[in-house]
Amino acid sequence: MQFTEEHEQFRKTVRGVVERVIAPHVDEWEEAGTFPAHEVFGALGDAGLLGLEYDPAYGGQGADHSYTAVLGEELGRIDCGGVPMAISVQTDMATPALHRFGSHELKERYLTPAIRGEQVASIAVTEPDAGSDVAGLRTRAVRDGDEWVVNGTKLYITNGTQADWLCLLVRTTDEGGARGMSQLVFPTDTPGFSVSRKLDKMGNRSSDTAELSFVDARVPVANTIGQVGKGFQQQMAQFQNERMIASYLAVGSTSFALERTEAYLRQRRAFGAPLLANQSVQFRLAELRSEVELLRQFNYACAEAYVRGEDITRMASIAKLTAGRLARKVADACMQFHGGVGYMEETWVSRYYRDARLLSIGGGADEVMLRILARMDGLDTGL
Ligand SMILES: Cc1cc2nc3c(=O)[nH]c(=O)nc-3n(C[C@H](O)[C@H](O)[C@H](O)COP(=O)(O)OP(=O)(O)OC[C@H]3O[C@@H](n4cnc5c(N)ncnc54)[C@H](O)[C@@H]3O)c2cc1C
Repeated sequence: MQFTEEHEQFRKTVRGVVERVIAPHVDEWEEAGTFPAHEVFGALGDAGLLGLEYDPAYGGQGADHSYTAVLGEELGRIDCGGVPMAISVQTDMATPALHRFGSHELKERYLTPAIRGEQVASIAVTEPDAGSDVAGLRTRAVRDGDEWVVNGTKLYITNGTQADWLCLLVRTTDEGGARGMSQLVFPTDTPGFSVSRKLDKMGNRSSDTAELSFVDARVPVANTIGQVGKGFQQQMAQFQNERMIASYLAVGSTSFALERTEAYLRQRRAFGAPLLANQSVQFRLAELRSEVELLRQFNYACAEAYVRGEDITRMASIAKLTAGRLARKVADACMQFHGGVGYMEETWVSRYYRDARLLSIGGGADEVMLRILARMDGLDTGL
């Protein structure tokens, strides 16, 4: 990936916005178990950060995907996992399908305010009985004239208590499996919709996560994103954006964690010398940095392939799998090198350790990535 002076300038802009709008409040938001999404997204929208690749006709920047890689790496350096995750839901998980497949009217009504940061979006796929197996979802939309009547439950929905609209995946026919699903823009002020629970999580605490309920909730058929019946396929394409941004965030967060750990090891002394004087410590840091660098370069190759318009399912799955596993390794090493103080709530390490764990579960668990890869490599034949 060829980065230019413009990319470096953009990196500085993102870092500046993060330092001004987000960094001073992270501890307070972690404590509160939520963050003011409208306020924060408004500021990010003003800085032009919420629609990098989107059509300028809807307020986007019309940039290529390389800028998303830079954005992800910089957001990954925020001192928590929750806020970057919430932002990337808005930019790369809940809106790509609307931009790619939505009608002009739908984009004007929902994409433009999301890019401005005036409306908060969620991606609503997971259900109590359908997580890894998306084809098993049961939330149903039955057509009644010009409206869909939606019934069901969605679980673990990021931004769920604050969202103005959901990119909602529902079943619209009885075909079963991956067939007969559709994506809808679902406004959360629709009668019959409610947030049934705000969930209490081990990590990513500043991000709100919710269980959502739909009881005879009516939305116009015109709110269908793209083609009726093609929702599963459209969501699979949208998942590629989700997996790429997750991997960019991981490069940012693991790099920052290793930088901070190095600084600690330089000043913490044991047995008459800084901890960093131990060759075993140097080697472990060097090894982990090498792995982060491999992931960074692989991400860039994936981003380039995406810019060229290639199918990046295989590369994005490899990146997401590697990112999840590497984040766990780095978090464990940082905790170990900090000793007792790392285990205390007062340091960044314990929060990072908890937050890093999510990456191997959310957005498709490690095993789901392996399932995709095994299938693509033809390993599942003949069983
Ligand atoms: C904090 C958080 C935020 C989230 N945000 C969102 C969101 O905004 N929108 C949304 O739609 N969803 C969201 N999710 C849901 C997330 O995508 C799911 O949790 C994830 O896809 C796994 O589904 P599940 O929890 O139902 O686990 P299950 O499907 O029950 O799987 C449990 C475990 O089984 C293993 N497994 C699964 N399949 C296989 C297999 N084929 N072979 C071997 N092992 C396997 C995996 O290790 C997996 O972790 C979020 C989850 C969390 C925790």
